Amino acid sequence: MTDRTILLKNISELVTVTQSGERCKCGQGMQELGIISDGAVVTRGDAIAWVGRTSELPVELRDGADETIDCSGKTVLPGLVDCHTHFVFGGSREGEFAERCQGTSYAEIAAAGGGIKSSMWATRGASFEDLVDVGRTHLDQMLLLGTTTVEGKSGYGLDLETEVKMLSVMRELRDTHPTTVISTFLGAHAVPDGVSRSEYLSTVLEEMIPYVAEQRLAKFCDVFCDEGAFTVDESRFVLSHARQFGLTPKIHTDQFASIGGCGLAVEVGAISADHLDAIQPRDIDLLSAHDITGVLLPGCIVFLGLSKYAPARRMIDQELPIALATDFNPGSCNIRSLPIIMAIACTMMNLHPYEAIAACTLNAAYALGMSDQVGSIEAQKISESAVMA
Ligand SMILES: [Zn+2]
Repeated sequence: MTDRTILLKNISELVTVTQSGERCKCGQGMQELGIISDGAVVTRGDAIAWVGRTSELPVELRDGADETIDCSGKTVLPGLVDCHTHFVFGGSREGEFAERCQGTSYAEIAAAGGGIKSSMWATRGASFEDLVDVGRTHLDQMLLLGTTTVEGKSGYGLDLETEVKMLSVMRELRDTHPTTVISTFLGAHAVPDGVSRSEYLSTVLEEMIPYVAEQRLAKFCDVFCDEGAFTVDESRFVLSHARQFGLTPKIHTDQFASIGGCGLAVEVGAISADHLDAIQPRDIDLLSAHDITGVLLPGCIVFLGLSKYAPARRMIDQELPIALATDFNPGSCNIRSLPIIMAIACTMMNLHPYEAIAACTLNAAYALGMSDQVGSIEAQKISESAVMA
């Protein structure tokens, strides 16, 4: 029923986020959400056909809808966009959480064989079907919490076979789950045991990236560029190579230390730089000048028991478009809820609630190159909004 029409009317508070066709919000604009009282939305098939006040609804739309939903007393928001997650993985690391609660650090756990490598063994050992089931469970929960678009990364395989298995699981879920799933190749997440750094990077460059690009298994290529992870030079090799194969760069950087990842993001034309808890003021200007979205992941700070949040207020003052995401993963953040992430951003990073909503809708879509399709309630966009009580 591609032309089926649905009318949402008498919406007490219709939060469109924007009606002007802008692709992202920054500075003062993050507090302007285009809220319409007594609003109405008409969807036709998969697209939004009309947005405005219920009193101004054209008669043919009011009387001709196949289904009408009375939204009196309700707020309607765009579907939330989670633009940074690692939602496909094998195994569980809840034991590490208990260890951290008793004082063991994330680095100590990783050095003892836990962390990313623990997820690697569990993911290598899981079947395709098992990973689809686990991924579907996470997406179901996210959808219940209002998230309709989810980016997911590989990076727990660290060999060609398992990286491809993870990306294929995401493709299966994209085709069979109502959530929109966007895939990112993160082969350069860690170096697996038993091979040298240079050997592993050669595999990423010469085998994984060409195969992932040829099979169209991912839209983005990401790298963990930080102290204790990959260096700027190593990350440059990976991201510039990926760009040549048509994968858009993203970068995990400045989570623990500022080692030059923001400069590299500019150099390789990254669409976003993610984490940024340790960013330097000059790098905020740099990202802002090059229109690179800062994706902030405060759930990690909470989950790891840390205290230094990314300087979100300064970023907004310096007109950097910022997005918020869960970074949902088995080790450093087990939070699937963007509403909780928004609450953390408000209470711990001093975001205005409207800014937090902009950061989880239009700006998160911008970080995925999708803000012309999702992230606001505008005519012609995809109709996947979530109704919130
Ligand atoms: Zn991450």
